Amino acid sequence: MLDAVCTHGGEVCTYNIFDFQKLDPAVIELKRQHLQCPNPDCTGKAYYRRASIDGKAACFGSRYHIAGCDEGRSSEQGSRELQQAQEVRQLLLAGEEVRFDFSPVAVKGRSEPVTPLAATKADTRPGSSPDKVNKSAKPASIGMDKALASLMRGSGLDTSETVIQLDGRFNFKAKNLFVNFADAEPQASAADVKPKMFWGTISHTDADLEWLNPSDCDDVGIPIARYKKAILARFGITDRRDLEGAGLILYGKCFWNRSKTRKIIELWDAERIFISVLTD
Ligand SMILES: [Zn+2]
Repeated sequence: MLDAVCTHGGEVCTYNIFDFQKLDPAVIELKRQHLQCPNPDCTGKAYYRRASIDGKAACFGSRYHIAGCDEGRSSEQGSRELQQAQEVRQLLLAGEEVRFDFSPVAVKGRSEPVTPLAATKADTRPGSSPDKVNKSAKPASIGMDKALASLMRGSGLDTSETVIQLDGRFNFKAKNLFVNFADAEPQASAADVKPKMFWGTISHTDADLEWLNPSDCDDVGIPIARYKKAILARFGITDRRDLEGAGLILYGKCFWNRSKTRKIIELWDAERIFISVLTD
């Protein structure tokens, strides 16, 4: 994307990347959470990625292009996400209960695949023995990467009545479990705070990579300082730019900061988070 539409402060204006990157850094920080795809039929929420030290140009992009948007170029990562979204759509159509699998997802090209202990062949390939499947099969499962891909591609997971089972005992309707950062509602008191699966994309971080700011809204902050080392290592993140435009899903709790000016989403632990770093 060479252009992006900015809606900051109620004014709509189109920037090209060459002008945008020359803006004052403070102005960029204000505007970057209000960017959209310039295609008026799409208007997918967009991100700005700064130029890298090793010479990659600054760019605009969006993880939310509608199908067929000319601004969204095809990539291996994009095709994989579409495939995952399609698989989730099939699961939702089947209407059966779905088990949520929190096992750490292998990050392509960054670490060795992790084979979850619970994932047996019968579990991941329903239908391979048709006679026994219906009565003895465990529920189908989805993991964090597939859930995130399908949410970003609008599979309907966040509006579905399908029952999602967590940790083998908690059942939630999908529509009550998956919450985009823009829709996060802080709970009134600590005792009320129930964890949910929050998702969206990252606009940018602070200089120390301890604070994630979503692209989806500008009143939510996600502190990661406590788990920073483990998270950055697991997803191969070494630079702020790696997180700009990355997809994010996490299990956590939402509450107000002390002055009630900002919603805070706190991670459950270092494991229940998945970051879909852009691969190009
Ligand atoms: Zn688009």
